[in-house]
Amino acid sequence: MDRLEFFKDIESAVGRKEMLRVEQAVEFAERAHRNTKRLTGEDYVEHPLRSALTLAEWKLDADAIVACILHDTLEEKPQEYDSEIKEKFGKEVYFLVEGVTKLGKLEYQGRERYAESLRKLFIAMSSDVRVILIKLADRLDNVKTLHVFDKTKRTRIARETLEIYAPIANRLGMGEVRGQLEDLAFPVAMEREYNELRKMVKESFEDQQKYVKKIIPQIKKALEDAHVTVVNIHGRAKRFYSLFKKLREYNNDITRIHDLVAVRIIVPDIPSCYTALGVIHGRWTPLKGRIKDYIAQPKPNGYKSLHTDIFCLDKKIVEVQIRDPQMHEAAEFGIAAHWNYVESGKPAKGSTVTRRLEWISELAKWQKSVADNDVYIKGLKVDIFKNRIFVFTPKGDVIDLPENSTPVDFAYEIHSDLGNHMTAARINEKMSRLSTTLQNGDMVEVISDKKRKGPSHDWLAFVKTHRAQEAIATWLYKNS
Ligand code: MN
Repeated sequence: MDRLEFFKDIESAVGRKEMLRVEQAVEFAERAHRNTKRLTGEDYVEHPLRSALTLAEWKLDADAIVACILHDTLEEKPQEYDSEIKEKFGKEVYFLVEGVTKLGKLEYQGRERYAESLRKLFIAMSSDVRVILIKLADRLDNVKTLHVFDKTKRTRIARETLEIYAPIANRLGMGEVRGQLEDLAFPVAMEREYNELRKMVKESFEDQQKYVKKIIPQIKKALEDAHVTVVNIHGRAKRFYSLFKKLREYNNDITRIHDLVAVRIIVPDIPSCYTALGVIHGRWTPLKGRIKDYIAQPKPNGYKSLHTDIFCLDKKIVEVQIRDPQMHEAAEFGIAAHWNYVESGKPAKGSTVTRRLEWISELAKWQKSVADNDVYIKGLKVDIFKNRIFVFTPKGDVIDLPENSTPVDFAYEIHSDLGNHMTAARINEKMSRLSTTLQNGDMVEVISDKKRKGPSHDWLAFVKTHRAQEAIATWLYKNS
């Protein structure tokens, strides 16, 4: 990599006055790795430098970038470099480098070690989320060169990328990063499924691509005629791995997927988003029930946009996504896009970043209380690795739950006492069964009776959250 280019890119992210430290870090890493090559044949140091560029793109601060440049040096000569890093680059950088090193490889080998690695990961994340951001940049660079490993090793790395890193990137709102990780890992982790999918969707994909190319100028013209400024309009092809997952849900019926290639429109601000939506609906009929306002009700990972399916040219259905430049950046970089508003490394109390990270400290607290690794992994699968929904209390408070949660999960999420005395539930003002699957945006009212003596054993069969499960089991145990 050209060093001058490298320094220029880093400087535009962190500013001139940090560059001395960055240059010292590069020098240090070059020295530490001078006798080490990657399997690709290149000098080892190229890897941390590329990862650091990724962090610069995510607009992370100088400490994180310096730590990233150094992130593999402790693996060379730990004792010697420990104190040198502390002295030269400060405690903060050392903490990050050590955090990344301690995580080591999150090996998906045997359940016990897998659970242990995950525990370590969330402890590190809860003390400083930059540790996982460095780890994500590191992983992103590593999955780009998977072909150099033998089959066993590259399959393992690809699988843990799909099962651990991509979901974490998603939970941090880093949609672009998640997509890149998944699309690099999917063909390696699931070779057969990937090849089958490619064959199956090839034609539909190409047709849809041509179609979107044809309609973009028409949509653009309609917007401009209505005096809506269009910052950018382009076709967005659905990523392969998310298409794979969606197709499985839809019984592999490709005709039911309307966002194979979607039209994405960037307009200057929020009012323009709604104006654009109005203009488009005035011209092309929207599909009933397919309008999603993720601006008024963002997804739990912070994603914002307007989505609508319209009958466009030749009455074909196409998905249109409308957002402003801030939403666009946030959707790509998630938590990292907010990082530059953060002073002194740690996000302020009550800030967007802090609120978006609350689940990490919750998780770190919870994992301390769970000794059984099987229970732990099961809980994690629901809490991190599943999609989340937003459900409302009658007062309009938002409760964030895993997909397929029930009113009982909702009640326990509010308070274990409320769950224990629950007798019935009203969903969107209709009396509903306690085992009903909640949908995003539902309003749930819990009806409880102090005279009720406790939860029912049957509830254990349908509750989804670890909180509800634990509370019910505890009550039953104490009262049996
Ligand atoms: Mn590395």
